[in-house]
Amino acid sequence: MDFEDSPEEAAFRAEVRAWLKANAEPKRHERDFVGDGLPPAERLAAARAWQARKAAAGYAAVTWPRELGGADGSLVQQLIVQEEERYFRSSFGIFEIGLGMCLPTLMAYGSEEHKARRVRPGLYGEEIWCQMFSEPAAGSDVAGVLTRAKPEGNHWVVNGQKVWTTGAQFSDFGLLLARTDPTVPKHAGLTMFFVDMKSPGIEVRPIRQMDGGSEFSEVFFTDLQVPDHQRLGEVGAGWKVALTTLMHERMSVGTEIGLLNFDALWALVKGAGRLDEPLAVDYLADAWVAEEGLRLHHCRSLTALSRGGVPGPEQSIAKLVKATLAQRMAIFALHLRGEAAQVDGDDIASDMGVVARTWTRSASMRIAGGTDEILRNIIAERVLGLPEEARLDKGIPFNEIPR
Ligand SMILES: Cc1cc2nc3c(=O)[nH]c(=O)nc-3n(C[C@H](O)[C@H](O)[C@H](O)COP(=O)(O)OP(=O)(O)OC[C@H]3O[C@@H](n4cnc5c(N)ncnc54)[C@H](O)[C@@H]3O)c2cc1C
Repeated sequence: MDFEDSPEEAAFRAEVRAWLKANAEPKRHERDFVGDGLPPAERLAAARAWQARKAAAGYAAVTWPRELGGADGSLVQQLIVQEEERYFRSSFGIFEIGLGMCLPTLMAYGSEEHKARRVRPGLYGEEIWCQMFSEPAAGSDVAGVLTRAKPEGNHWVVNGQKVWTTGAQFSDFGLLLARTDPTVPKHAGLTMFFVDMKSPGIEVRPIRQMDGGSEFSEVFFTDLQVPDHQRLGEVGAGWKVALTTLMHERMSVGTEIGLLNFDALWALVKGAGRLDEPLAVDYLADAWVAEEGLRLHHCRSLTALSRGGVPGPEQSIAKLVKATLAQRMAIFALHLRGEAAQVDGDDIASDMGVVARTWTRSASMRIAGGTDEILRNIIAERVLGLPEEARLDKGIPFNEIPR
């Protein structure tokens, strides 16, 4: 990748920067979003309004086809928009799952009619999506899902439970991974659907988190009817479809965690007058090296994608490094700032709650989208080509696996 902008790219960057200056407010810290501090409904409305404005300007999904609401742009242009938007207040992440994972999956496997009806509203923030893969007994081993979909006429009847579904309580649609054939080995008996979250037969129960928020939910299905035309991919090919979603997930989580960063840590250390302490210098150096590594890794991925590649297992590296780094930095910042760092909330915390929020969020980021251990397994086996871990259920029909 050439790190200097070409004249065309420089012109595009100037255009994006000028648009952002005219349409958005500068960020006060890494996790500063439009509508922060407003009641939930108004915050969501502010996020939707921002998303619609960005989509209308052609900056919401630069590479997507124009007829679906994108801008037919290049990956480098997409990167330029992301880089420039980092300095401005944008929406709080409610559209990330739809835009980063569900809609790319729908575009890859959905019918022309569904693409035409669902992609544009998702892009404009009118429809929100969630991803329903994890279950109480199927997280890391997501191919072990028990939620059952049985065919009946031209629809499927779904019964079961999902958990940790981010944004389910706000969502209009969701991707659903279900077991359609328990008599074959676990990866072969899965099918992917998308469902209308307001359908009868779906109950969403939000989960209360330790940071006071409630970003994810349990979702229960009782005789939910899903039309067969909402199936994504072939019957029994759900694992292949799920891998498409998961690779997009690791790529977007890896780049968009957006917690305490090097600049914020530098300001904290400087503010505390501790720039000459070896331990502080060590942490700062680690943070800088890791952030620069992540940036270059992201550029390399984009180069591969711009040559026609798809997000591959190496995307796991970015998520693993960034989540671990965020937690290390938060622990150091907590030591540095003492009790003051524990205060959350824009209005009362002197650092606008960045340290406290990074601390509470970073633990979950090491789990979401694949735990550290699972990502290490993927990197070992599929990037480095090391021997596979023992898989005792391999080749055994799902309904014969002891549980
Ligand atoms: C913030 C957040 C948001 C989430 N959002 C969503 C969402 O929107 N949709 C969704 O479907 N899911 C979501 N999840 C769920 C997430 O995908 C799972 O939590 C994750 O995959 C881990 O599964 P688990 O919690 O069942 O843990 P388990 O799989 O039970 O793992 C428990 C421990 O065992 C370790 N372990 C398991 N298997 C192995 C192995 N083979 N080798 C080594 N160690 C192993 C794990 O690393 C972990 O430490 C979210 C989770 C979080 C934290």
